Amino acid sequence: MDTDGSLALRFLGVGNAQAVELGSAAVVLERDGAPLLMIDCGQEAFSAFLERYGHVPEALFVTHAHFDHIGGLERLFYRVYFDAERRGRVKLYVAADLVPILQQRVANYPSPLAEGGANFWDAFQLVPVDRGFWHGGCWFDVFAVRHHLPRTAFGIALRGSFLFTGDTRPIPELVAFHADGAELIAHDCGVQGNPSHTGLDDLMAAYSAETRARMIVYHYAKHSDRDVFAQAGLRVASAGDAFALAPPMDATQAATLAQHGGRVR
Ligand SMILES: [Zn+2]
Repeated sequence: MDTDGSLALRFLGVGNAQAVELGSAAVVLERDGAPLLMIDCGQEAFSAFLERYGHVPEALFVTHAHFDHIGGLERLFYRVYFDAERRGRVKLYVAADLVPILQQRVANYPSPLAEGGANFWDAFQLVPVDRGFWHGGCWFDVFAVRHHLPRTAFGIALRGSFLFTGDTRPIPELVAFHADGAELIAHDCGVQGNPSHTGLDDLMAAYSAETRARMIVYHYAKHSDRDVFAQAGLRVASAGDAFALAPPMDATQAATLAQHGGRVR
């Protein structure tokens, strides 16, 4: 497998749960312009993925089970189940702690096909993960963030390239641990914070100017919020934007660090 291609992080949507017009917050890791991993799959994100790439995602990571992050999975089930080429082959990487919640939220609906004969997970290759996972020749770190109850929401990082927080309060200790080099940091940020999300004041207080310089903020309420972020010196994503990424750390080294809970330096 080609693991040397150039990487980019593309935002399918940048809105909070109410800001449907901004798209559901989600990104795609692209390698040489092709989707390698979709991160979160709300309704609008799934539509945006189909529109951009013309086919369903082949691999996904889900940060948590709010519907603006998983609402597209039922549509994905129907698309994939009736596609003999893809049925059972779409990889869905999910933190093990999140599997029971995802089961309750999307997989427990009685008989996904009216005529019976199908289980929700038949469409997917469900891969429960803990510290991280291998995909496409890369090692991705996975870590619990601060959203609602402990260990119900998870961020993801590819050392050297990017860290995506998912929905969270500030997590400076995790950014320092998983992305202390040249990584781009895609961070939850609204103009106003609340007990489950980061606000502009929180972001300014929790992170150094050097760390903020590597950030792209997303998950805001309305288009005009972008001006507020720009005035604070922050880069902000719009739906459809793609950002070139630095090459990842050697995958075996990254996986070893994850196994041992180690630091880069
Ligand atoms: Zn959420």
